[in-house]
Amino acid sequence: MNKFDVVIIGGGLGGLLCGNILSREGLSVCVLEKNNKLGGCIQSFSKNKAIFNTGLNYTESLGEGEVLYQYFKYFGIMDKIKIKRLDIEHFDKISFDNDKNEYPFAQGYDNFIESLSQHFPSEKQNLKKYIKDLEEVCNIFPMYMLNGSSEKSHESKLLNIGAFDYLDSITKNPKLREILGGMNSLYAGVKDKTPLYIHALINYSFIRSAWRFVDGSSQLAARIADVINENGGKIIRSTKVTKLGGANNEIEYAELENGEKIFAKTFISNLHPYNTLKITEPTLIKKAFHNRIKSLDNTIGMFSMYIVLKNKSFPYINYNHHHFSDVNVWTTRYNKKTWPEHYMLYTPAISKSDEWADSIIALTYMDFKEVEKWTDTYIEERGSEYLDFKQRKAELLLDKIEEKFPDIRKHIHCYYTSTPLTYRDYTGTPEGSSYGVLKDFSKPLTTIITAKSRISNLFFTGQNLNMHGILGVAISSALTCSEVVGYEYLINKIIKA
Ligand SMILES: Cc1cc2nc3c(=O)[nH]c(=O)nc-3n(C[C@H](O)[C@H](O)[C@H](O)COP(=O)(O)OP(=O)(O)OC[C@H]3O[C@@H](n4cnc5c(N)ncnc54)[C@H](O)[C@@H]3O)c2cc1C
Repeated sequence: MNKFDVVIIGGGLGGLLCGNILSREGLSVCVLEKNNKLGGCIQSFSKNKAIFNTGLNYTESLGEGEVLYQYFKYFGIMDKIKIKRLDIEHFDKISFDNDKNEYPFAQGYDNFIESLSQHFPSEKQNLKKYIKDLEEVCNIFPMYMLNGSSEKSHESKLLNIGAFDYLDSITKNPKLREILGGMNSLYAGVKDKTPLYIHALINYSFIRSAWRFVDGSSQLAARIADVINENGGKIIRSTKVTKLGGANNEIEYAELENGEKIFAKTFISNLHPYNTLKITEPTLIKKAFHNRIKSLDNTIGMFSMYIVLKNKSFPYINYNHHHFSDVNVWTTRYNKKTWPEHYMLYTPAISKSDEWADSIIALTYMDFKEVEKWTDTYIEERGSEYLDFKQRKAELLLDKIEEKFPDIRKHIHCYYTSTPLTYRDYTGTPEGSSYGVLKDFSKPLTTIITAKSRISNLFFTGQNLNMHGILGVAISSALTCSEVVGYEYLINKIIKA
């Protein structure tokens, strides 16, 4: 059978969740994933028996009754995943060179205010206002608050506020301002572009509660896929879609690398919108739409270090470190000469021990220009110059980490690294961008991609819509599927799950 109600191109989190929702609603679905492994950015892998996550380091609001909990319950996976809550008094610690303090992000809004007020006693009222303002911004996203409201976020003036400008207005203390932006690596924020709503949705839900997956993030993709299979959906791996063909403003089929055509009434693309347009029959694409999508900037990519630790050598740490060279947390300060200016570091959670870590993951931004000369190469075939480049970068990152963790090198058994090219080749994201389309508060409606494309039966899903991240993509998937099954109907089902 090669005809379905819905064909989904891409088996990343967004594609799998659409498959989950629509197969539960009785539609016949087929998910087509180019890689052998499902999950896109939420894949994990193991090296020397240590497990590494590629793009799900921690997640948010999974406590009973909280927003992601409610989505996961509706998806039928909440009781099937292994998660661990991060330390209540500090799920994140923010630090800077030349400052021995580590500024805590505590879970729970009152805790958060109290613990930062200990470092900034005169800022308590501002911190209270900060949390209230975050809630107000989140309130314009009914799919986020799950409160039954049908307010339309795209009509709100709050979309036009910049994250940096807002933080600068909430406090006169530059250090507190940058600390509040300390989770920057979760959205690769650009000072004069990133909207407040991105900052607010992420910070408000992580401060509510913060969690790690135990034994790797791949389980999330696997459990979502289980539900698709149980509902009779089909998932085909190692199958790259090379063309979306059709006529008269309608997609008729997805064509695979081997020439096979898969037909459907509705098509959902989990790919970056630019990549979707690249494989779509050109006569179906309106020029203005093509130009708009082509003109979008993307968020910066990451250099990741996957460190295998010696046995029982380094403790498991139940929080994340976000360290910055300077009191400036924004990606705009990227400087090739002084790289790395920042890192996020943590020890993945494993079921075999709460005491010792098997591994460390450290991430820092990397401009695509640094790897541009290997653009025409593919994973594991890039040559020795690229390997030398990666090693040089890894040692620079270790030098930086060593300033805070002086004996880190003595715990290392070996390490592996990835660059934006790795992400480009595994997930197809342009220039290995971490979070897809860069949102811009000065042109919110141009940079927010809606689920509806200009082609009648083609929809977008995934991180390039309103929001990236696990919660962001869960919401995007629900928004996409609401175009197929109805908004009120779906949101009520999620609320009542
Ligand atoms: C380094 C990094 C760290 C992150 N850390 C966190 C974190 O701690 N917490 C958090 O919440 N979020 C985090 N994220 C973000 C989160 O992982 C992503 O927003 C989310 O997983 C994106 O899902 P997606 O489905 O939109 O896209 P993707 O994961 O990119 O999925 C797209 C899928 O489409 C497939 N595909 C592409 N082209 C084709 C084709 N032609 N045919 C068939 N299939 C195709 C790809 O292989 C892929 O599986 C991180 C991301 C990165 C990169």
